Amino acid sequence: MAVPATPVPHAPIPLVDLAAQHAEVAAEVAEGWEKVLSRTAFVGGPAVAEFEAAYAAYSGVEHVVGVANGTDALELALRALGVGPGDECIVPANTFIATAEAVARAGAEVVLVDCEPGTALIDVDAALAAVTERTRAVLPVHLYGQVADVARLKAGLAASFPDVAVCEDAAQSQGARRDGLQAGAIGDIAGTSFYPGKNLGAYGDAGAVLTRSAELAERVRLIGAHGSPRKYEHSVVGVNSRLDTLQAVVLSAKLKRLDAWNALRREAAARYDALLADLPVTRPTVTAGSEPVWHLYVIEVDRRSEVLAHLNAHGVGAGIHYPTPVHLTEAFSTLGKAGDFPVAEAMADRILSLPLHPQITAEQQQRVVEVLAAAL
Ligand SMILES: *Cc1c(COP(=O)(O)O)cnc(C)c1O
Repeated sequence: MAVPATPVPHAPIPLVDLAAQHAEVAAEVAEGWEKVLSRTAFVGGPAVAEFEAAYAAYSGVEHVVGVANGTDALELALRALGVGPGDECIVPANTFIATAEAVARAGAEVVLVDCEPGTALIDVDAALAAVTERTRAVLPVHLYGQVADVARLKAGLAASFPDVAVCEDAAQSQGARRDGLQAGAIGDIAGTSFYPGKNLGAYGDAGAVLTRSAELAERVRLIGAHGSPRKYEHSVVGVNSRLDTLQAVVLSAKLKRLDAWNALRREAAARYDALLADLPVTRPTVTAGSEPVWHLYVIEVDRRSEVLAHLNAHGVGAGIHYPTPVHLTEAFSTLGKAGDFPVAEAMADRILSLPLHPQITAEQQQRVVEVLAAAL
């Protein structure tokens, strides 16, 4: 390749690159969409059922129910478990707000617990200690693509609180494993999101509930379809939350590439690990036995706001996931005060997500680290 005679400005490096991903599936999506359009089968239809079956097989669960988005998936999963007013559900303080919203939407009370330093995953001991006679479910979040210690949580609950269910928030962990167990297939039920930027992303909102239980799956379907077991019969007050047919086509096309894309994310994460080795940053902690899918590559740095501003000013699309723990948001301010969840709060001030997606190049990563080094 010819070297330009004069230096050219660096092209921006986005946090995620959905255009590059689309290019790989464009032909297949166009063909699938054409079929849907020609049949004018815009709601339901074979495309939805095919994706649900394919995603169930991929995830190692018997049942997948497509729904409108990830927040609905968690809410419907909780409602299927029977969670409602008067119940408590345990949620980590450092998550995307949707985990807490789903509990509130189901009519239950959110009880927050802290996370572990390093992995930022739910502190299982804190979760077990927070169980009361009103607790109905714990929602471990597989944050950044690493599976929380659901097996230990389940064992702890089984020993002392057998009626408390585990509802995994698997929105960031499509394809991830821990000790051979697959995200979304470890707890009693799980909700996932196919928001465009997720590892498996649609071209709009989409989500799914995963479970081994035929009974729970049936309840999710019922509640998500106007509480209607048969047309114009309504046995419970439900909602309208369906997986859009056009989105199901996109998801089926992308699912075939998910393992390859996750492998590219792993390569990119290993490259960052090497490039960052000598810099004064804390690299992500991966637990032994864990196979994360790197939804996000999150480091910790001093003077985070300045470092982030420098990166953004130089075209590096770094971000913060998430800047405000749940109890410090206005919406959920009744759940705690500053100082209540010290690990989550300390991390919120130091975390920084570097651009990482399947199509990122080694040169782009090199550039990210050069800009970062200058900021440190
Ligand atoms: C994206 C996400 C959700 C919600 O998904 P939506 O599809 O945006 O409703 C829930 N939990 C976590 C951890 C997420 O990252």
